[in-house]
Amino acid sequence: MTNSEQERWSRVKGRLRSTVGEDVYTSWFARMDLESVQDESVHLSVPTRFLKSWIQAHYAERVLTCWQAEMPEVHRIDLSVRSAMRAAMPVVKDAPAPVEMRRAERSDNRPALELRPATVPPAAASHDALGGSPLDPRLTFAGFVVGRSNTLAHAAARQVAEGRRGDPVMFNPLYIHAGVGLGKTHLLQAVTWAGNANPERKVLYLTAEKFMYGFVAALKSQTALAFKEALRGIDVLVIDDLQFLQGKSTQAEFCHTLNALIDAGRQVVIAADRPPSDLESLDDRVRSRLAGGLVVEMGALGEDLRLGILKSRVAAARAHHASFDVPEPVLDYLARAITHNGRDLEGAINRLLAHSKLNNQPVTLDMAEREVRDLIRPQEPKRIKIEDIQRVVARQYNVSRSDLLSSRRTANVVRPRQVAMYLAKTLTLRSLPEIGRRFGGRDHTTVLHAVRKIEALVGKDTALSEEVESLKRQLQE
Ligand code: ADP
Ligand code: MG
Repeated sequence: MTNSEQERWSRVKGRLRSTVGEDVYTSWFARMDLESVQDESVHLSVPTRFLKSWIQAHYAERVLTCWQAEMPEVHRIDLSVRSAMRAAMPVVKDAPAPVEMRRAERSDNRPALELRPATVPPAAASHDALGGSPLDPRLTFAGFVVGRSNTLAHAAARQVAEGRRGDPVMFNPLYIHAGVGLGKTHLLQAVTWAGNANPERKVLYLTAEKFMYGFVAALKSQTALAFKEALRGIDVLVIDDLQFLQGKSTQAEFCHTLNALIDAGRQVVIAADRPPSDLESLDDRVRSRLAGGLVVEMGALGEDLRLGILKSRVAAARAHHASFDVPEPVLDYLARAITHNGRDLEGAINRLLAHSKLNNQPVTLDMAEREVRDLIRPQEPKRIKIEDIQRVVARQYNVSRSDLLSSRRTANVVRPRQVAMYLAKTLTLRSLPEIGRRFGGRDHTTVLHAVRKIEALVGKDTALSEEVESLKRQLQE
């Protein structure tokens, strides 16, 4: 892949991000990679079958349009699923293979050099036999750096991993949520590795996709009794990326599994990119069951944490490439410049490793600045939550949050409530029915009415328009 293709791809992603909005982008496109561009067709890849079919069904046209805006000659987008093999690419040994070949393998965040051990530890094999999703041997507690934003999640995860069969379960389910690349999968797989190190315990790690296409199908082919029997063998069920769980019957199976496990005193651990209350496609019963355990958010990675992650990545790389070194000022620069997520930090180190190995040069600040340019993004706009809107509006108008959710119709409550619903519609991606639900179970037509009303007033009423602007500023701070 040439640099200009990479840059073009960055711009296409930028367009996509701004047309579909941040939430949709991170849910569906954050892990899409450019494979190649040939004449009029572009080849993209995603890590799972599910993402592929979803993007094809809902966003094919949009993706094409974004490409055409950069390259009018493009007429076709091929989307494929990156094979699991790719993740297990052989470790590049110090003896260099032809440079061209390795360059060709490289795509955005997928560096040519992989840092993982060549052999998979035995625990992975027994995990596969249970029907679990593949585990990455690097994602253990030993490699997890603890900082302010993840202390609680880490402590809870450790507690779960160290539990023994028959111990009382402290929080069930443990539900961890965070944006893309902030360490959810790392933490969940660490729990799985550590749990399975104890031969008396069985920890099963499943992505939501695997749960839908593998686990549920297997369960359906069995009798209710066999189902109970199968669950009995699992001490801890770990489900990653729950936001991808879709479909009524899958949800019913999920709910059934969740209840059966929790009632039997087995631990359930879940990760998703949003809190339970924002999983719109789940039904209320599942949502409240999820919220009934311990819900922990992992925040953005602070600078110290980013520096720690970079150092741990460099140390891991040095195990295979002893001559590789990244001077302190370069680490400081990267920790300051790449603020977005752990995946980009990992990508940055992989690039420096690739570059210094292939060109046989030491890592310098200049080189780092050049190599990671496209990983440096402007500060992400903050993701605004409906609760924040309700809190800020209530404060500004001196009413309580429960007034906003109540059915009271006095003027001092009606207007703030309408403003809050209007802000929820304009500042989040939530649908009208969802907003209605979050405002004390109102109908979507009520929300629509509020939105229209405030939209119209903002055009005429300067005082109101200033209030709305001030609320927006407070929310975006
Ligand atoms: P998520 O599942 O939340 O999208 P991942 O767990 O895949 O994120 O993390 C993305 C990358 O960042 C991985 O390479 C992971 O190892 C790394 N990472 C994130 N947080 C940490 C941490 N606290 N310590 C070490 N590595 C981390
Ligand atoms: Mg993940």
